[in-house]
Amino acid sequence: MNIINILNEFIAKPAMALLAPQRCLVCGKILVDDEFTKACMCKKCYNNLPLFTNFDEMNTRLIGSVSREGQAVDRAFGMINRRQNSKYMQLIYNLKYYNYRMVGYELGRELAAYMQQCDFVGFDVVIPVPIHAAKKRERGYNQSDLIAKAVGDGLGIPFDLKSVKRIVYTNTQTKQGQGNRHKNVEGIFQVDNPEKFRDKCVLVVDDVFTTGSTINSVALELKATGAKSVCAATLAVA
Ligand SMILES: [Zn+2]
Repeated sequence: MNIINILNEFIAKPAMALLAPQRCLVCGKILVDDEFTKACMCKKCYNNLPLFTNFDEMNTRLIGSVSREGQAVDRAFGMINRRQNSKYMQLIYNLKYYNYRMVGYELGRELAAYMQQCDFVGFDVVIPVPIHAAKKRERGYNQSDLIAKAVGDGLGIPFDLKSVKRIVYTNTQTKQGQGNRHKNVEGIFQVDNPEKFRDKCVLVVDDVFTTGSTINSVALELKATGAKSVCAATLAVA
């Protein structure tokens, strides 16, 4: 943890809480003491989480986006349905760009609970979609690490934040057209410890599922090292 992070965790946040009250990241309502605050949502927004249910559609998107390199994700799962209520994407945005780390962990626990509810279980290990080391230094953390920890804790399985690395630095993909996306993610991940995944059922987690091509690239590397199956789970489906 570098000095900026320490300042931010222990000084800036409490100071901010005194100056500006904590608001629900979804509806903007000021949160009072008895409100649900861990995931930075009010009780009403928490209870109305727009749950994604059409998991077959994720598979269809994968087939459409990864035709060249081949589909390596066996099954995909997501929790928040962006099309039902896009305001909930504020949670993801704040997690990614505004250092709301606890949102990543709390939503990760919710994701694990929803997976269990839908019987999307049976994994040996959970890993995050890694970001490049330089980007991690810039941002201070990888939001997917927080999700992987929470899902591992929630499902009672180990998480591994180190064995898969992103070896190519790419610019933010959301700025590019979808047509370029799958070209951008081939060969940019590397598995450092292949033995770890041999014959294992691996779960790869990320914040948002769009075409699934990035998570499929991680899955391709894992399958190449002998993983038995690779599934994907994300906090939200765009
Ligand atoms: Zn709210």
